[in-house]
Amino acid sequence: MTTITYSNARLLDLDAGALTARTSLTLVNGRIAAQGAPEGGEIVDLDGLTLMPGLIDCHFHVVAWQLDLWSNVIAPDSLAALRAATVMEELLGKGFTTVRDLGGADFGLVRGVEEGLIDGPDLIICGKALSMTGGHTDLRPRTDIRPDAMGERLGNMGAIVDGVDEVRRFCRTQIKQGARFIKVMANGGVSSPNDPIDGLQYSDDELRAMVEEAGNANTYVSAHVYSDASIRRCVKLGITSLEHCNLISPETAKLAAEAGCIAIPTLAAYEGLALEGKTFGFGDAEYAKIETVRTGGQNSLKYMRDAGLPMAFGTDLLGQLRKYGGLEFGLLAKVLSPVEILRDMYRAGARLCRMEGEIGTLKPGARGHLIAVRGNPLEDISILGDAAANIPLVIKDGKIRRDRRAAA
Ligand code: ZN
Ligand code: ZN
Repeated sequence: MTTITYSNARLLDLDAGALTARTSLTLVNGRIAAQGAPEGGEIVDLDGLTLMPGLIDCHFHVVAWQLDLWSNVIAPDSLAALRAATVMEELLGKGFTTVRDLGGADFGLVRGVEEGLIDGPDLIICGKALSMTGGHTDLRPRTDIRPDAMGERLGNMGAIVDGVDEVRRFCRTQIKQGARFIKVMANGGVSSPNDPIDGLQYSDDELRAMVEEAGNANTYVSAHVYSDASIRRCVKLGITSLEHCNLISPETAKLAAEAGCIAIPTLAAYEGLALEGKTFGFGDAEYAKIETVRTGGQNSLKYMRDAGLPMAFGTDLLGQLRKYGGLEFGLLAKVLSPVEILRDMYRAGARLCRMEGEIGTLKPGARGHLIAVRGNPLEDISILGDAAANIPLVIKDGKIRRDRRAAA
């Protein structure tokens, strides 16, 4: 039995909306055992640092090494895996102990973490996202008519799947291969060349088939959606994880809340794209789409908060934009309070990862996924976006994985 106590720490108490007085948190065999009284074992004095659950990013693509998505699609699997491992190790270094991958990562990367080959976050995967022909992850240029040009290599975030029968077979295959939920591109996108942002993708019948297949496997469907019409259609068809939601209306936000949905706004991605998209070769058409979703994003936060629609934390940062992930906290804080942001990151995030009670909490029995923070994120949440300066310790399964205390 391994017992370790992190002492002299202020714990994040989201029920009280405050930090506790200095106390200790004891972990036994990598799980949280008790607050308060240490009982033997190793003691690590945190000297007044804030101790809180490890961060959860509920929208990421660890295989998206380059913003030039086609270059990821054609990379050999071995190279894509090594790149993904690097991205995952970066994420853990930033304090993310659990990451939900929204398309691309496979069971090998999950196992790589479990076997200790990758020093990264736990990965909750969907396998490949489903995209219809001409949909959001159909990256073929208009002139490329090869039916199988996309392939299904590891660096590819999605697969082209059409028709109810093929949709069913594909969902079953993803689940059989370790997917914990199903991801669909149900609306046009920003990073794709041929699909308008207000276009609906897939027929109702195909989406219903996905919902049924996911439900049969006791899980859910997550949809990439921007436009209000696409969100509303997904809610009505039983899809419960709503990605982006930049152009949602107040009425649809209420419908989604009543249906028990969770939204995952991903604002930093568009800030990063607006700052650097042109240098990476985005054309005018894509650039106009970025501006539409960027300005919509801030309004959507207000509508979703007012409707009582929980919002998990996600960044969706592709390739070279990864460096902008820290912006997400500050962007959310323009509308939401730090308590609202953290409560939803942990509670809605744990629900989406289907790990309630396991992550996002300091209660006994939870996994020992923790970060120690310099300062109080309830006063200034943006400090969580700069791990090098403000997150000296990252702890996963009770063990210290990153230690920057000496750099203070
Ligand atoms: Zn998306
Ligand atoms: Zn995404």
